Amino acid sequence: MDRCDRLAEFTDVPGIIHRTFCSPAMARLHDALRGWMTAAGMTCRVDAAGNFLGRFNPTADPDAPALLIGSHLDTVPNAGRYDGPLGVMLGLAVVECVIERETKLPFAIEVVGFSEEEGVRFGTPFIGSRALVGDCDAPLLSLVDHGGVSAASALKEFGCDVTQIAAAAIDPATVIGFIEPHIEQGPVLQSQDQPLGIVTAIAGQARGAATFIGTAGHAGTVPMELRRDALCAAAEWIAMVERLGKETPGLVATVGFIEASPNVGNVIPGETRLKIDVRHADDAERKRAVTTLETLAHELAKRRGVTFHFAETHSHRAVPMDFSLTATLERSLSDMGLSSVRLVSGAGHDAAILARHVPTAVLFIRCKDGISHHPDESVTLDDVTVALESLWRSFVDLSLRERSADAAFRSPI
Ligand SMILES: [Zn+2]
Repeated sequence: MDRCDRLAEFTDVPGIIHRTFCSPAMARLHDALRGWMTAAGMTCRVDAAGNFLGRFNPTADPDAPALLIGSHLDTVPNAGRYDGPLGVMLGLAVVECVIERETKLPFAIEVVGFSEEEGVRFGTPFIGSRALVGDCDAPLLSLVDHGGVSAASALKEFGCDVTQIAAAAIDPATVIGFIEPHIEQGPVLQSQDQPLGIVTAIAGQARGAATFIGTAGHAGTVPMELRRDALCAAAEWIAMVERLGKETPGLVATVGFIEASPNVGNVIPGETRLKIDVRHADDAERKRAVTTLETLAHELAKRRGVTFHFAETHSHRAVPMDFSLTATLERSLSDMGLSSVRLVSGAGHDAAILARHVPTAVLFIRCKDGISHHPDESVTLDDVTVALESLWRSFVDLSLRERSADAAFRSPI
């Protein structure tokens, strides 16, 4: 946690925590990581996508398969100090634990600090983890920031050889799995009085733009029964969105944007534009929810004499976490006498990218009041200590199974 405090000092904007892809602050942060990891006996490198990787190999085989652990090193503007860096520091702490406790591991540990997850500089997230799965393509590299600098130029400026970007991809055959420790960014663990949670899936998401069109009119002269009020229609629908979210297990549905026209105090609104966000760990449930909400909107629009238009603007599928690796984390919690809280992550994580290629699990750590992306982000030393113990126990558990499996038929974890 002292190290997280130290990393928080590396910022693009003095006075707040704001660290973006390939910025000078990121380079200074890498120097600090290199110092700590080299002192722990690790070999460090920065790949062609600006990801920081520190490898600890206690085996005799230089090509030993690796268990990856880590998270992202970039932040949102005016961030907290734990979203991202805590996962990387826990990776380093596990390595130090393994050394201190003289734990015998038949695999290497590779601590990953992803270069970009938040999507701040180029408006697109996951540049770092996408490179690790071989998905950092030309369109991604040609994105430009507000200063007109492309992602490819930013990487070159940072000292990366962009021509080697394809080589940044990991070979799934040499990777045992990926564990991402991350603060929860929500209030569930706090409400259940538990320090840690196990992520079962990263929720799928749909976003849409909705419009109700009625007739604007004089607030004093048009009688109530003759009105076609677009804002009242929208208000009724927003309440339905909330109700469906509450009544459907696992569903979160939000109308977070509303704009009425002409938006004048004494004029009946003629048009209302809304933006909706719907998430669920089960893609079929999510799609069903969107269809239900569309149907409800058309019905109420008809009853109120207004029209309704809807367009889905973005959607992505849910990503389940690896059953076996997740069970390993869960076992470590029960061994420690902790109950295992299973959670769906409503927020996206690098783990969602890695999970399509290697067995992946996410360990959530309770954060105060569920606050993240804010300087008030806070975790306790006790919770982080329990997280570290859980991770070390999981590594031991994995090493026992790796050892007992025949080398030629290494069972999936
Ligand atoms: Zn994060």
